[in-house]
Amino acid sequence: MKYSKLFLVFVLTAMSLGFRLMDSSKHWEISSSDPYLWIKPCDRSSTFESNSVHLGDSLFDRNNINITSALQSIADNVNNIYGSYLRLEIYPEDPSNPPANSHFDYNKANRRTIDICSDSYFLASGMAAWKTDRNSIIGCDISYVKKDLRDARTFVSVLSHEIGHCLGLHHPQELTHSIMSYFKDTDYYRYQIDDFIGIRYLYPAHIEGIDQKENNSLGLSCKYK
Ligand SMILES: [Zn+2]
Repeated sequence: MKYSKLFLVFVLTAMSLGFRLMDSSKHWEISSSDPYLWIKPCDRSSTFESNSVHLGDSLFDRNNINITSALQSIADNVNNIYGSYLRLEIYPEDPSNPPANSHFDYNKANRRTIDICSDSYFLASGMAAWKTDRNSIIGCDISYVKKDLRDARTFVSVLSHEIGHCLGLHHPQELTHSIMSYFKDTDYYRYQIDDFIGIRYLYPAHIEGIDQKENNSLGLSCKYK
């Protein structure tokens, strides 16, 4: 009894430090066999005044970085999370003629698009809001203040955070290991370990021999091993 109480305290402590969810009753209408959401920027071609991403970043030392390539790099981060089925694609510029590698489907995209537009009328540098239909998330609107995001790294940081909200992640208590944290180090501008775990929890891919739902709490599991 004493040990189980101690264990509960440990688990609750561990949970309070990890990712938090916006509203676990709400879900995008996607699945592991149909995993696509689309990111649709109002402004595709604006470039940045500076680029302070770190050495080794996919945007480092590249010419002609614009909003679309920065958003593509965020989509690549999400698409490369091991154990998550979620896939993000850029909404095609011409929906009637999507690129050959696109999985775009106009009817599906009607209920699966994250719209990203600049707006200078609010105080935060970014904001995200779901559109819902009962328990389905059928869209998400991200606004950002263009004049605050003139550096590519700041843009990636703020947009990764807001896209994280659209995907279902809330602000955690964790201080640094999450792009969703209010208190993260400014050196962190891409998703961190807590964000990976949160996205994997929300969109668990089936991997033979691994029960994803049982392996998310920092290695803790209720199962006998
Ligand atoms: Zn936030």
